[in-house]
Amino acid sequence: MNYDAQSLAAAIKSRQDIMLTPHFRLSELIRTSHRADNWPSSPEEILKLQYVCHWVLEKVRTHFGRPVSVNSGYRSKAVNDLVAGSTRSQHMKAEAVDFEVPGIANGDVATWIRNNLVFDQLILECYTAGEPSSGWVHCSLVRQGNRRSLLTAQKNRRTGKITYVNGLQA
Ligand SMILES: [Zn+2]
Repeated sequence: MNYDAQSLAAAIKSRQDIMLTPHFRLSELIRTSHRADNWPSSPEEILKLQYVCHWVLEKVRTHFGRPVSVNSGYRSKAVNDLVAGSTRSQHMKAEAVDFEVPGIANGDVATWIRNNLVFDQLILECYTAGEPSSGWVHCSLVRQGNRRSLLTAQKNRRTGKITYVNGLQA
């Protein structure tokens, strides 16, 4: 069979439903609501997504015994620009994922990760204690040199401005 480069790339892209780990599909980790190409720029980035799924998302799913809802995983530069993400966002390196566990307070999810998993940076984002479904959890993981950085992002309800404070304020 003869494939030209374009049809081969199209064939690979048509397999976005492949499982990276037992419970997470590639499509969940590269989904975006923005009209921009969000296909990983290299096979290594797909492997990095698989690494985060294995060591973070699968562990969280097993501990809480509930499905994990992925809000955002990999972001191409185009998508990151559209969401006004940090220029150094680990989402662009396929090292970070934003997620929630429906039915579990995001503060409890972040606290469990802090106490039990290896991570590079863990951010409890826009969470309000007493409102379990408020906010989300951002967690990044690298193969070597994980910093165990902990931050809490708080949104000013009046101005909408987000400020980061050190540590987990769950
Ligand atoms: Zn994030």
